[in-house]
Amino acid sequence: MRQRQRGGLDVRWHAGWPSAKHDPAPDIQVHVYDESTLILRQNMSVHFEAPFLFLLLGERRALLLDTGATADPAHFPLRRVVDEEVARWLELHPCPSYGLVVAHTHGHRDHTAADGQFADRPHTVTVGRGLGAVTSFFGLPRWPEGVASLDLGGRVLDVIPGPGHEPAAAVFHDRRTGMLFTGDTLYPGHLYVQDVAAYTATVDRLLAFCERHPVTQLLGCHIEMTTTPGDDYPRGTTHQPDEPPLEMNPGHLRALRRALTETAGRPGTHRYADFLLHIEE
Ligand SMILES: [Zn+2]
Repeated sequence: MRQRQRGGLDVRWHAGWPSAKHDPAPDIQVHVYDESTLILRQNMSVHFEAPFLFLLLGERRALLLDTGATADPAHFPLRRVVDEEVARWLELHPCPSYGLVVAHTHGHRDHTAADGQFADRPHTVTVGRGLGAVTSFFGLPRWPEGVASLDLGGRVLDVIPGPGHEPAAAVFHDRRTGMLFTGDTLYPGHLYVQDVAAYTATVDRLLAFCERHPVTQLLGCHIEMTTTPGDDYPRGTTHQPDEPPLEMNPGHLRALRRALTETAGRPGTHRYADFLLHIEE
C-alpha cells in the first residue's frame, strides 16, 4: 500500500524512521497535487537521498522527471507505481497509445537509478543522461542558451538549460501549474556547485525566466535543512522529523544569487538560512 494524498502542497512528507527496517511507510509516497500532477518521494528508509520525483500527465503523454536512487523494483517499485497512476488517469481520460517520457533533472545516480525499470515499457522514451542526449532530445542546440518546449498534449513545459551542479542539468517549467522544477540546483539543503561559473549563469537564467513567466513555486529534489534557519541534516541522515517544506519561491533564487556574489567562487561550505552552498575546488 502507499499513501495517496490530495490537494495542493498541503502535505506532510514522510522523512524516514528512527529504525529504517521498521519503517511502516511505503517505499514511495505519492502526493496528488492535482489530478494530472503527482509528486513522489522515495522513502528515506530505502535510500538516505530520499529524492522527489514528478509525474506530469498531459493528454497524449506523461513526463516522469527522475527515477530515484534505487534500481531494484523489490525495494523501489517505481515502474509499478507509475503504471498504476497512469492507468488511473487513463480511466478518466482515455487515450490509445498513451506515451511516457522519462527524463531527468540531471544525470546523477540518485535521480536515474530506476531508469532500467522502464526499458521494456511500451510507448516509452527514456532520455539519456549525457549532454548530447539531453540537447538533442529537447532541441537545445545553443546550450546553455535557449529554452526548449515539451508538449505533453494540452500541457507544455519549458526546458531551461541548468548546468553547474552537473553538466547536463535542466530545469523544467510547467506552464499549467507554474511550477519550476529545479532539480539539485536549488532546494532546501546542500547545494553542490561543481562549476561555479556555469552555476551562476544558470541562476541568472532562472531569475530572468522568473521575470518573464508566472512561476508559482520552485520544487527541487531533496530536503536536507531543518526548520531552524541555517541548520541542516548532515549527509546520510535517514530520519528527518523536522523538515521545512519542499517548495521555495523566486525570493529564494534571489537569496541564492546574493550568496553567489558574497562568496565570489570561494571553495568551501557557506551556510545560509535556507541552504548550504558547497563550492567545489
Ligand atoms: Zn545531483
